Amino acid sequence: MTKRRALITGSTSGIGLGVAQALAAAGHDVALSGFGDPEAIERLRHDIETSHGVRCTYRFADLSDPAACRALVADTAADLGGLDILVNNAGIQHVAPIPEFPAEKWDQVIAVNLSAVFHCSAAVLPGMIERDWGRIINIASAHGLVASVNKSAYVAAKHGVVGLTKVAALENAKRAITVNAICPGWVLTPLVQRQIEARAEAEGKSIEEASQDLLGEKQPSGRFVTPEQIGAMAVFLCSDPAASITGTTLSVDGGWTAQ
Ligand code: NAD
Repeated sequence: MTKRRALITGSTSGIGLGVAQALAAAGHDVALSGFGDPEAIERLRHDIETSHGVRCTYRFADLSDPAACRALVADTAADLGGLDILVNNAGIQHVAPIPEFPAEKWDQVIAVNLSAVFHCSAAVLPGMIERDWGRIINIASAHGLVASVNKSAYVAAKHGVVGLTKVAALENAKRAITVNAICPGWVLTPLVQRQIEARAEAEGKSIEEASQDLLGEKQPSGRFVTPEQIGAMAVFLCSDPAASITGTTLSVDGGWTAQ
């Protein structure tokens, strides 16, 4: 295994943290980014570094700002001496029917979930092209392939990420650079916990009942996908046997999109 240097956006919690831990466990240097309590983030960073014997850095960036996206990639590349792997994972959700969907929420979801993927990829690709090796992994969603009501911005952004993934893959197909999208189903992270709590409150149900309803509606397995399972897929995509997988979507969704 060749040791690589990876930036994972939105890696202070949930799926991004699972991916960072899995890449570190596979021996790669990792860079964390995202929001959160500085002391808790420092503990995460230190734990990853000491548990896996790799370098682990952290930088703050608000990825709704295009300049901050590009600066995050440049600064992280300077920290680690280059970037071989970019995992575009940071994402947010807002739920409302289209007529009631606030325009500023639309702009925010598109900025973080779609435009940041473009800006970070644009900033990281020149170094990958120069070294003729790279992996870009976009964490899209089952909602990059199919829709649900009340998630207009999220579904539009995730479908956009799938399209952008294909373009970036084609532009680099002759090089040892692959670009793919992982499409998870429901993963129990803070992003989904908030949706479960809102549902429980709206329907007067317990958190357990609301979780089961959420899974029952979409995910035939009836079980949450785990951040570890998404991390394992990312590790595989970064490995040499995955060199011919490019421009595609990998569903890890308990059967959601088979229906
Ligand atoms: P999460 O809320 O646990 O983590 C989101 C991460 O993004 C955090 O680190 C947060 O600090 C960061 N972030 C949010 N806004 C940001 C901003 N403006 N700038 C920089 N960082 C920002 O959510 P999660 O469920 O782990 O989601 C991670 C990704 O996986 C998202 O793109 C999400 O759409 C996708 N996804 C999640 C699920 C799921 O069921 N949880 C399913 C499919 C896809």
